[in-house]
Amino acid sequence: MKINVAKSSGFCFGVRRAINISNKLSSSKKNVRVLGDIVHNTFVVQDLEKKGIKKISLIRKIKGSTLIISSHGAPKKVFSRARACGYKVTDATCPKVKDIYKIAKRLEKNNKIIIIGDAGHDEVKGIAGQLKKKPVTVEKPADISRRKLSGIKKAAVITQSTQDIENILKIMDRIQRIIPKVKLHNTTCRTTVIKQNEIRTLPKENDIILIIGSKTSANTKRLYQISKSINKNTYWIESEKDLNKAWFKKIKKAGIMAGASTPDHITKAVVEAVKRYK
Ligand code: SF4
Repeated sequence: MKINVAKSSGFCFGVRRAINISNKLSSSKKNVRVLGDIVHNTFVVQDLEKKGIKKISLIRKIKGSTLIISSHGAPKKVFSRARACGYKVTDATCPKVKDIYKIAKRLEKNNKIIIIGDAGHDEVKGIAGQLKKKPVTVEKPADISRRKLSGIKKAAVITQSTQDIENILKIMDRIQRIIPKVKLHNTTCRTTVIKQNEIRTLPKENDIILIIGSKTSANTKRLYQISKSINKNTYWIESEKDLNKAWFKKIKKAGIMAGASTPDHITKAVVEAVKRYK
C-alpha cells in the first residue's frame, strides 16, 4: 500500500503562532490561563495543560494572572472584562482573523454584515463581537429565508476563515435573490484555500482518505465534508487509536490529510500505524 500525505497537512501559521506564544508564557510566567481551547485540538490543549496553562471557560476576578486569548479570537468585551477582573491579557488571535475584524468594521459603516460561518464558533463570535450592530450569521444555504433577511436593502457578506468556497457560492446565490444590493468579501484564509484545493484532488487519487483532527476543529470538519463528497471511503480520526484494520482490505493507496490544528507527531503516528496494515 502506498501512503500519500498531503503537502499542506498540519499546522497553519496562526495555530503555530498561538502555540509558540503559549509555550513562551508557560516558561516565563506563573498563573497562565487560556480562554477556551488555544486551538481546536485535544492533544495541543492537553500538552499545554501539562506545562501549567489551565483552560478556563469563565472569567472571574483574579490577581496576578495572565489570560491568553486563543487563535480564534474573542469579542471586544471579553478583553475589557478580563482586564477589569485583574488579568494581564496576551492576545494570540491569528493576524488573519484580525484582518477579518478590520474588513467587517469598515464594511459595517454602509452595510448590514452577513457572516457565513458556524454559529457558536469562537471565531464567528469574535468577529460579531467587534461590530456595533448584530450581524446575521448563516451556516448553510437552507438557513437563508426572506424572513431571516427581511428589511435588509444593502449587505456585505464576509466569511469565517475556514469556509468552503462551494458552500459560500451556494449561500450567495440565495442571498442575491433576496437582497437587492449585496457584495461578497471572501475572507477565507490562504491556508484554508490551499488545504481545500488539495483535498479536492487527493480523494480522487487514493482508495481511502484519512482526515486527522479533533471533532471541534472547523477546518478539519470542512476537509472531511469535501473529501467524503468525493470519496465515500473517507474517515475522520483524532489519532491512530481510531484506526480500524478492516478499512484497509484491498487498499492500494491511502491518502492522509491533517487539519490546521493537528500536531505533526499525531500524523506521524497515524502513518506508522497504517504502514503496519500493509
Ligand atoms: S486557519 Fe487561517 S485564519 Fe485560522 S488560524 Fe490558521 S492561518 Fe489563521
